[in-house]
Amino acid sequence: MGDEMVKNEAMEIMGLFQVLPRLVVFDLDYTLWPFYCECRSKNEKPSMYPQAKGIMHAFKDKGVNVAIASRSPTPDVANAFLQKLEIKSMFVAQEIFSSWTHKTEHFQKINRKTAVPYNEMLFFDDENRNIQAVSKMGVTSILVGKGVNLGALRQGLSEFVKNSASVEKNKEQWRKFSKEPGSSKSDAQ
Ligand SMILES: [Mg+2]
Repeated sequence: MGDEMVKNEAMEIMGLFQVLPRLVVFDLDYTLWPFYCECRSKNEKPSMYPQAKGIMHAFKDKGVNVAIASRSPTPDVANAFLQKLEIKSMFVAQEIFSSWTHKTEHFQKINRKTAVPYNEMLFFDDENRNIQAVSKMGVTSILVGKGVNLGALRQGLSEFVKNSASVEKNKEQWRKFSKEPGSSKSDAQ
């Protein structure tokens, strides 16, 4: 399937969901491309997982921003590859630095830069420890096995919808609770 076909199919999948995330964050190694860029040279010509590019373009077309959170110790190689793949200008935020925090710090920076709340973000990564840490922050986080593909997209969007439905339900319950007589000081006159 070429990029354009993947993009069309991804747009169709996105059309099935009533709410979409405001920002989608991608890991790099083994999520967008099938290698560790620390093991590669800047001079090589990289290639991505076959459906990754089409999916990113579909998000862009739907008005959903995309960003990068990578713990790669070689940001220079990562940046060179993003240039060569002609996708570097797509991202509203790019956090590429090694850290022990399993990307908590990456997401704090992305949140500060974009002002998008954690519960309106969707994240794809191939490492479970990153998924665990970032989902605790309120981000819908999807573990990918063979890079970002249409299956992961479908799963990500449905998890996102489920999570945002439960956020709404909590808000609703909180509103109900605070309106009950005697539940807040302003009611107790
Ligand atoms: Mg990775």
